[in-house]
Amino acid sequence: MKHRIVVLGAGYAGAFAAGNLARRLSPADIEITVVNAVPDFVERMRLHQLAIGQDLAVRKLADVFAGTGVRLRLARVTGVDPGRRTVAVTGEDGDGELAYDTLLYALGSSVAHHGVPGVAEYAFDVTGRSSALRLRERLAGLGDGGTVLVVGEGLTGIETATEFAEARSDLSVALVARGELGTWLSSKARRHLRQAFDRLGITVHEHTAIEAVEPTRAIAADGTSFPADVTVWSAGFAVHPIAAASGLKVAETGQIVVDRTMRSVSHPDVYAAGDCAYAIGDNGRPLPMSCGTAGYTNMQATAAIIARLTGSEVPTTGLKYYGNHISLGKRDAIFQMVDGDARSKSWYLGGRTVARLKAGVLKGAGWSISHPTFGLPKRRRRLATVPDRSGVKVAA
Ligand SMILES: Cc1cc2nc3c(=O)[nH]c(=O)nc-3n(C[C@H](O)[C@H](O)[C@H](O)COP(=O)(O)OP(=O)(O)OC[C@H]3O[C@@H](n4cnc5c(N)ncnc54)[C@H](O)[C@@H]3O)c2cc1C
Repeated sequence: MKHRIVVLGAGYAGAFAAGNLARRLSPADIEITVVNAVPDFVERMRLHQLAIGQDLAVRKLADVFAGTGVRLRLARVTGVDPGRRTVAVTGEDGDGELAYDTLLYALGSSVAHHGVPGVAEYAFDVTGRSSALRLRERLAGLGDGGTVLVVGEGLTGIETATEFAEARSDLSVALVARGELGTWLSSKARRHLRQAFDRLGITVHEHTAIEAVEPTRAIAADGTSFPADVTVWSAGFAVHPIAAASGLKVAETGQIVVDRTMRSVSHPDVYAAGDCAYAIGDNGRPLPMSCGTAGYTNMQATAAIIARLTGSEVPTTGLKYYGNHISLGKRDAIFQMVDGDARSKSWYLGGRTVARLKAGVLKGAGWSISHPTFGLPKRRRRLATVPDRSGVKVAA
C-alpha cells in the first residue's frame, strides 16, 4: 500500500515541493500527485510585465515533472474533505475525487476586491494569468493619452505603475494610495521611490480610498472622481475560500493556520505552504504573501512530511524575512532590508544594478521551478510506516 501525497497547486510553493518530495522519498513507497488548474507554470511575479505586452517563457508543467515520478492532474480543485481525506476536482474529464494520505495545500491567492462595488465588473488586475491577459488586450487597445489608474500602494501596485509608465510613455499613469507612498520604506529608499515616480511621470493621489469603480472612472470616499480608461486593482491578495469551507482551521484572512512545521493545527495530515498558509515567521509575525515565503514554507513543509513519514526528527528550516526587492520598471529597483521586527533598516540599495539583480532573482525562481529536483539530495528514503487509513470516514 503506497502512501498518497497530493499537492494542490503548482505555483512557486507547490511545484517545488512536489519535486523535492519526489527526489527524496522512494517511489516504492509513495505516490505523488500534483493538481493544477492550468497546464503551465505561471510566473506570477511577472504578470504585470505580461499585462504591458511582454512575452513570458512558457513552462509546461508536464515537462517540469517529466521523469520525476510526479503525476500531474490538470483540474480545478473545488473542495477538500479532511474527514474523508479527499479532494474534489473538476476538469476536462468532468468531476472527480482524489484520495490522499498527506495533503499539501498550496493554491496561492488571487485579487482581493474588499467588496468595493464595481471592482469585479470593471477593474482589471495582474494577480492571475487570465486577468493579466485581459488587461493586456485592453491596454493594447489604448491610444495616446489613455489613462490608467492603479489602485493600491503596495508592492504590486508600485511595480505595476512603474512598469506600465516605463513601457508606455504614451499613457497617463496615476496611482491611488490609501496612505502615503512608500511610507514603510526607509527615508532614503522612499526618496528614491518618489524620484522614480517623478521621472516616469506617474501622478500619485495619497490619502485616498476608492469606494467605487465604474467603466471610465474610480470614485473616492470623499466623492472625488478619477477618470480612468483602465482601473487596475492592486489593493491586496485574498486566498481561495476552499480552505475555510473545508473545515480546516483558518485565520481571519482565510489562510490555513499552521504550526512551525507548516502542518495544519486542526488536521495533522494536511500541510500548507505559500500564500495560503498562515505561518508565523521567526520574528513572531505572520509571514507576508511573497515568493520568499513560498520558498521557506514549502521547504519546511516538505522537510516535515519527509521526516514524519520516515521516522526521523523533524528539522526546523529558517522562516526569516529579509526585505523587499521592488522593481521600478526594467532599469531601476529598490532593495529594502528589514530588521527582526520587520521594520525597514535605515539603509537600502537602489538603481540599475539592483534592477539587474531583481531580473536575476525572477529568472532564478522560474528556473528552479522548471527544474524542481535539481540540486536536491537524491536520497530516496523508505517509509517507516504504512499509511494509516483507519480514521478515514469512507475508505478511498
Ligand atoms: C504582479 C505580481 C508581482 C509580484 N512580485 C513579487 C515580487 O517581486 N516578490 C515576491 O516575493 N512576491 C511577488 N509577488 C507575490 C508572489 O507571486 C506570490 O506570493 C507567490 O506566487 C505565492 O506562491 P504560491 O505558490 O503560494 O501561489 P501561486 O504562485 O499563485 O501558485 C498557486 C497555484 O495554484 C493553482 N491554483 C489556484 N487555484 C486553483 C484551484 N482551485 N485548482 C487548481 N489549481 C489552482 C494556480 O494555477 C497556481 O499554479 C507578486 C505577485 C504578483 C501578482
